[in-house]
Amino acid sequence: MSSNLLLDHKLSWWESEYLLKDVDYTILGSGIVGLSTAIELKQFSPKSKVLIIDKKTYPIGASTKNAGFACFGSVSEILDDIDSFGEDVCHKLIAMRWQGLNILKGRVSISEMDYQHRPGIEIFDEDDEDYYHARIPHINTHIEHVLNKKDCFNLRKGKYGKEIVNSLEGCLNPQMMMANLELQARKLGVVFLQGINVVGIEKNNCELETNVGVISFKNLIVCTNGFSERILGRIDVQPARNQVIVTSPIAGFSLDGCYHMHKGYVYFREVDSRLILGGGRHLAKETETTDVLENTEQIIQYLKDLAATKILEGKDFEVDKVWSGILGVGADKMPIVKKINENVMVAIRMGGMGVAIGSYIGRVAASIFLEEDNSDLQLFVRS
Ligand SMILES: Cc1cc2nc3c(=O)[nH]c(=O)nc-3n(C[C@H](O)[C@H](O)[C@H](O)COP(=O)(O)OP(=O)(O)OC[C@H]3O[C@@H](n4cnc5c(N)ncnc54)[C@H](O)[C@@H]3O)c2cc1C
Repeated sequence: MSSNLLLDHKLSWWESEYLLKDVDYTILGSGIVGLSTAIELKQFSPKSKVLIIDKKTYPIGASTKNAGFACFGSVSEILDDIDSFGEDVCHKLIAMRWQGLNILKGRVSISEMDYQHRPGIEIFDEDDEDYYHARIPHINTHIEHVLNKKDCFNLRKGKYGKEIVNSLEGCLNPQMMMANLELQARKLGVVFLQGINVVGIEKNNCELETNVGVISFKNLIVCTNGFSERILGRIDVQPARNQVIVTSPIAGFSLDGCYHMHKGYVYFREVDSRLILGGGRHLAKETETTDVLENTEQIIQYLKDLAATKILEGKDFEVDKVWSGILGVGADKMPIVKKINENVMVAIRMGGMGVAIGSYIGRVAASIFLEEDNSDLQLFVRS
């Protein structure tokens, strides 16, 4: 399957046969979407050869840099989505995230990804509180038939005053989740080629342009999310950088839930007595529209101030580590999962809840290529 591959002379016959010969499906990107797609393809078509190509020599994708919320939307974010995209799109997004979480929990056991059933909790600035609290019944009715659960959101008096609680959510360790998905893919016989930077696709000739020359493909699924513009050119998926800080362990600090603020733009939780706090992109949208993994001092400072003044209520703390990760967002919140020609499909634009939606999108992507009857996937809009 290789042609003009500059590294070909460095590969043994064994390696060439294993990595590049008779590949049926080539997947670009080994994040949660790429791995889920690969697993689905091998489960439904075990004889197919599936190859995953990834640029990383060290992890760069969002799937191991996120906050590990297993969530499907807070009240303020859902209301914002209804205003921006309408009720129908909002229903579908919540349903896809809910189904994605259920697929993930069926695939990776609770202990293998340290899944913890901790409620999602939303807190507000005083000025906004009454407005959002009053909308709980409307949102509950709105999503009841999507989740098949009554009264998903409830008001409680909690650590930070009046809080909106969603007892259906949880949290997990994203690195453990991804290590397990990769293991499952390898056990199913998925082949990995890493350290390959794909710079373009020659769709009509079924060829990938890479830093090591040209690699041919039969069928290609692009799962590079926030990095996709560099490969696909103009497409409605922009990179959106998110900053995260984690503190050293703080004596006596614990939280019973995973917290959301500011329509999902800020989020925090506790892990091993540490505070993990992320977001703040709404403060500097222009500088954060990038796929470069750097830290933005203005946002890091905002997160530190928020930790000091509100979350940790004056407790002493030290920041142990800061990092950033890259989301894929666009004018529409729906992921893009479609064939862009007979042999090339994209499965990108996961937004801020890719841990939730990723497994569902993998199932959809694989079923479209395998032309499975995806009647249980009717929620999804393909265009
Ligand atoms: C800081 C942060 C916090 C988040 N918190 C949450 C959360 O709590 N809950 C939640 O549900 N979601 C969260 N998300 C979103 C979620 O992490 C993403 O939506 C999801 O991981 C996207 O998965 P993916 O597989 O589409 O892309 P990625 O995980 O980004 O994977 C893309 C892959 O493509 C590869 N790649 C890129 N360019 C190339 C190239 N040129 N050639 C070859 N390979 C390439 C990369 O190496 C990478 O492995 C968060 C995201 C961030 C950044």
